[in-house]
Amino acid sequence: MKTKEIYDYLERLSNLLRNEERREGMDYGLQPVQLEALYYLSICNRYSDTPMGVVDYLGQTKGTVSQSLKLLEQKGYISKHANKQDKRSIHLKVTSSGKKLIKTLIPPPLITKACNNLNEEEQNQIEIALKQLLQTIQFSNGMKSFGVCQTCRYNLTKKDCSFFCELTEEPLSMSETQCICREHETIIS
Ligand code: SF4
Repeated sequence: MKTKEIYDYLERLSNLLRNEERREGMDYGLQPVQLEALYYLSICNRYSDTPMGVVDYLGQTKGTVSQSLKLLEQKGYISKHANKQDKRSIHLKVTSSGKKLIKTLIPPPLITKACNNLNEEEQNQIEIALKQLLQTIQFSNGMKSFGVCQTCRYNLTKKDCSFFCELTEEPLSMSETQCICREHETIIS
């Protein structure tokens, strides 16, 4: 078993990333958790851009997430929109200045510099291994997968190549199918 070795590498990597996020976010008055919430909202779909979506994705308490979202809104990085069907439900959209900030800070220079020193094959191998590890952690612990439509059992690709979600019974645009989703369920082969 390599549990300890895998843990040690993950722990070191997450420390490096967290420190980098802390340093980078400081210039903008943002903590790592606030940056992570903003990044999540920039890559998730319309079924997932809610405060509960952020809670589930980050695994933080509702109180912490609520404070983070409040700050992001005050700084003009996100805006709140009422759900047209259910006025009690709120969607959080990343504003243009939020998108600009994400583009500046993510991926952090730490990762970009490292990838510049890895060839394509090495990068592919790392991506596959990390994906497998993430999926195994999620599956083994009964966590939400937060995947994209392509790997979801509810995704239906129609004959005309358009996409449809069989869970929400709504059509999906091509760009939406590339966003991560809170309702995603991995196809079991
Ligand atoms: S197909 Fe799956 S991932 Fe895509 S929107 Fe529907 S539930 Fe979410």
